[in-house]
Formats: sequence, C-alpha cells, structure tokens
Amino acid sequence: MYQALNQERFPGSDSFPFRTVWRSEVPMKVKAFLWLVTHERILTHDNLKRRGWNLASRCALCNSEEENIDHLFRHCSFSSKIWSILQLMIEFHGPFPDRFVLLIRCWSRCSQTQWKNDFASGLLHAFSWEIWKERNARIFHDKSSHWRVILHKICRVLLSWVRAAGILNDDRRTEWLALMHQCCPLPFVGNSSLEAGS
Ligand SMILES: [Zn+2]
Repeated sequence: MYQALNQERFPGSDSFPFRTVWRSEVPMKVKAFLWLVTHERILTHDNLKRRGWNLASRCALCNSEEENIDHLFRHCSFSSKIWSILQLMIEFHGPFPDRFVLLIRCWSRCSQTQWKNDFASGLLHAFSWEIWKERNARIFHDKSSHWRVILHKICRVLLSWVRAAGILNDDRRTEWLALMHQCCPLPFVGNSSLEAGS
C-alpha cells in the first residue's frame, strides 16, 4: 500500500510528498487526515456543495470568505497568523505557494537537516489537525479560541505525539523547545507548560 501511495502524483505532475505525510511520527489518524486534505476529500463547504448541500458558505475562522481547502489552511487571516509564526520556527523563507498542497511540498524540503525537516513535518500535521478541530468547535459547539491559543495547542500536541512515539531524546527535545519558545509569542508558554501534554 505504501508503494502505491508513494507513486501518487501531485498537481503540477510533481511527486507526492510521501515522507512528509506518511513517515512523520504522529498518530495514524492524523496522517490519514492530512492525506485527505491533500486530496480535497474533507467536508469543507465547497465539497459539501458539490455533493448537493445548499449552504451559505462562510469560513468559521474569519467569517468573511468562502470555505475551501486552500482558504481554510492557507489564506484565511486566522491561519495566516499561525503560519507566520511557524515560518519563523523552521526558518522557512518561501516562496509561500498559493495552493496548500504545494505548500506541503515546499515545507517538506525546508532544511538540509533531517531533524529540522521532521520538525517541520510534525508542525504541518499538528497545524492541519488543530485548525480543523477549531473550525469544527466553532461550527458544531459554538466555541472559539484565539489564534495564539491554537498556536499553543499545535506546539503542545506535537510534543505529546513525539513523546508518545519515544523518538525525542533530551538533546532533540531541547532543540525543538528552543525553536518553539523563541517564536511563540504567548507570554504563558514556557518549557514546562509546553511539556505538560494536551
Ligand atoms: Zn477564513
């Protein structure tokens, strides 16, 4: 199955970023979710409309634009604020593609250093996961969080995933935490709170 997935083609006929999506040390359900996002299979408003739903499409995060994959995960003003911080964390200097699927491909090649690419890949999964959860919380539970809180959740959930996978030794954890702490603008985010788990 992995071989078939690895041979997938991407828009623009480039190869699918197999390692970024499937080889990250994150839960399988999160990998599967990101794969669905890259193939535009999640139930955003534009997909629901194509299935015959009659919706007044408004992005739940900014409440101003129509909701689709590229808006929700790439262009939304809410998501963009988080992206700007994640860019600083991995020193991603762009260019920043318009399509989310193309951004994934660039993001996975951000560094010559494998551990930093692994870090970037984990951030990408955590970002997608937490953005979708926040979107659903607003639509289905009428609950909303500030983008800085979501940024905090992204850092925290990523650390909990890699800790559960047992791959983060003390030196690497210190490096990851330093990158997060250096760029995360939350006054209440310290190393101890980030490591407190989700
Ligand atoms: Zn939006």
